[in-house]
Amino acid sequence: MFAVTILGNNSATPAYGRFPTSQVVTINEHQILIDCGEGTQMQLSKYKIRKRKINHILISHLHGDHYFGLVGLLTSMGLLGRETDLHLYAPAALEKIIQLQFESSNISMPYTIHFHPLTEEGIIADENKFSIKCFKVKHTIECWGFIIKEKKVPKKLDKEKAVEYNIPAAYYNSLKEGNDYVTKEGTIIKNELVTTPNTPEKTYAFCADTIYFEEMIDKIKNTTLLYHEATYLKDLENKATQYCHSTTVQAATIAKKSNAKKLLIGHFSSRYEVLDDFLTEAKEIFDNTELAIESVTYIV
Ligand SMILES: [Zn+2]
Ligand SMILES: [Zn+2]
Repeated sequence: MFAVTILGNNSATPAYGRFPTSQVVTINEHQILIDCGEGTQMQLSKYKIRKRKINHILISHLHGDHYFGLVGLLTSMGLLGRETDLHLYAPAALEKIIQLQFESSNISMPYTIHFHPLTEEGIIADENKFSIKCFKVKHTIECWGFIIKEKKVPKKLDKEKAVEYNIPAAYYNSLKEGNDYVTKEGTIIKNELVTTPNTPEKTYAFCADTIYFEEMIDKIKNTTLLYHEATYLKDLENKATQYCHSTTVQAATIAKKSNAKKLLIGHFSSRYEVLDDFLTEAKEIFDNTELAIESVTYIV
């Protein structure tokens, strides 16, 4: 499974029961937390997402609505006896902030936090099943977007067929890579007899807090699922520009111009109680849009 679960979709302050930004991306057995606004660990418990499964945390920028829940979460992970290493990717200043809080409360964690400061665009994590890339967006302070890409082997194995041809399990990975199998007698079992082509690799792009800027389009081209903030409705475009945020129409325009398959919009301003107009406005430009709603899991 490759999916994103929304834990918080509001901007700046919690409002109308909506929490500030946080999302969990699930790629099979892996979980990646993106941003950690206040209340994130409560949301994780509420939606039964196990903290110990999260080994990567990405923080887009150091506005409080994106990280004020982090020290609480890191501390709880320690109190719950976590021993597995945790990888934290964030603007450099976060390392000092965390250290100061831990030092002041005289606590040390029973697990290692590997802090990776975001310095330049590119791959920041390269695991067996996925990779994570960061890219710069434009906001009032240093701010980063992330692209999570699943990795797939080129072929899917038809196990029944492989057994039929008496191919030992030790060769299954080689078959998935597209190689033929040669029997002891020298007979070649062609790869296509025991495999089928795999589905294309999918990507999830998280565009953080950003003003509308078209240079982004190249960075996120052809994303399977694109999350773009839409803090305001279209009539407040001036306000969006003033605060380095985007509107519904701007988010949908980025989705359209970057050829995204599907758009998810969030980071709604606390001035709006009802969100229906966000969807209507965005859909006028890019039909395959959904609102990022807390507790909902969106398949990539
Ligand atoms: Zn924000
Ligand atoms: Zn911000």
